[in-house]
Amino acid sequence: MKNKWVVTAVAVAVFVVIAPVLFMGALVLLIFMSDEGGHDTDYAEACSQIDETMVSLDDGQIHVVTAIVDVATELGLDNDAKAIAITTALAESKARIYANDGTHQYRPGTQHENIMSYAAWLEAAAVVKGSLAFPHDQVGRDWDSVGPFQQRPSAGWGSVEELMDPIYQARAFFGGPQGPNQGSPGGLLDIPGWKDLTIAEAAQRVQGSLYPDAYMQYTAQAQNILAAVDTSVCDENSNPDLITAEGWMHPVPTSSGLSSRFGEQRGGYVHAGDDIPSPSGTPIYAAADGVVVDSHCQFKNGRSPCQVRVDHGGGIETLYVHMYPSGVHAHKGDRVQAGQHIADIGSNGNSTGPHLHLEVWRNGTPINPYVFFLEHGIALDRP
Ligand SMILES: [Zn+2]
Repeated sequence: MKNKWVVTAVAVAVFVVIAPVLFMGALVLLIFMSDEGGHDTDYAEACSQIDETMVSLDDGQIHVVTAIVDVATELGLDNDAKAIAITTALAESKARIYANDGTHQYRPGTQHENIMSYAAWLEAAAVVKGSLAFPHDQVGRDWDSVGPFQQRPSAGWGSVEELMDPIYQARAFFGGPQGPNQGSPGGLLDIPGWKDLTIAEAAQRVQGSLYPDAYMQYTAQAQNILAAVDTSVCDENSNPDLITAEGWMHPVPTSSGLSSRFGEQRGGYVHAGDDIPSPSGTPIYAAADGVVVDSHCQFKNGRSPCQVRVDHGGGIETLYVHMYPSGVHAHKGDRVQAGQHIADIGSNGNSTGPHLHLEVWRNGTPINPYVFFLEHGIALDRP
């Protein structure tokens, strides 16, 4: 009888104490999940120490991390995905390109047999030795692992030649429908619900590592590095004092003057925007809050690549033209704020020098940008 009492008491305690905790947990999880993505996306501290972070990286690491960020940006992936990949590369290789001399100590008769047979190992060792012929920062000997993510040719990640290219390894790491391995071995995007995992958990799941804690110690450093290498991470809202009371700002505030204006006759057509000259790579900021409704790098509607178009509501859109693909930081569907770094000046397409071709559309028809901006407190021909 006494035992039954104890059991009942425990059951009541479980219900009274644990159930609310579970409920709260579910609630917290729900709130957490409703926030876009499940990870720590606060980069304020990382953005305040960019210079120190850059100094701590060598050229090889910058090369690897830049490759990761470029691939992720091209795939339209967010900061979480970038941070997961950088965390993984730091944990696996300190973000360096490893060749492999094939001298892993295989011990026949041990659990090594579960990883691969001795005959298979001899073959893998001979293959991976070929990695020494490709540019590398270090030489390792962990099975036949190579490159920044320590992917193994014998596990189907790719050929030695492919895996010695950090861009290829980043593509394989992210995986998904555009990845080289079509889910086998699977990458980050092949994991259902990866956005709800922590950075370390997600890294561990892709790598199938037995030591998830190894990734945890690199997440903060990875986010610092991301902020230092990817300019778009810290540039959001970096120009609050340049925004007028109406919520608009000059998209290239460092420029001075216009090189060509709206309405000028060009052989056979009328110039539909204002041209704002500035050196290649100069940041272009969203002129006002809005949603990116188009972002592509084709010649389209008589305009040059690349183009980003932002819908500001009320029938007003702004169009930014002539960027290079690497200078496009805003993707279709992105919500942007006035002053957010959305692109970099380029001279792509039908262009005689680096400049922003800026258009303002009202209900789908180009109007005079200079006049429109002047009505919103900004003279486009002066910084
Ligand atoms: Zn133009």
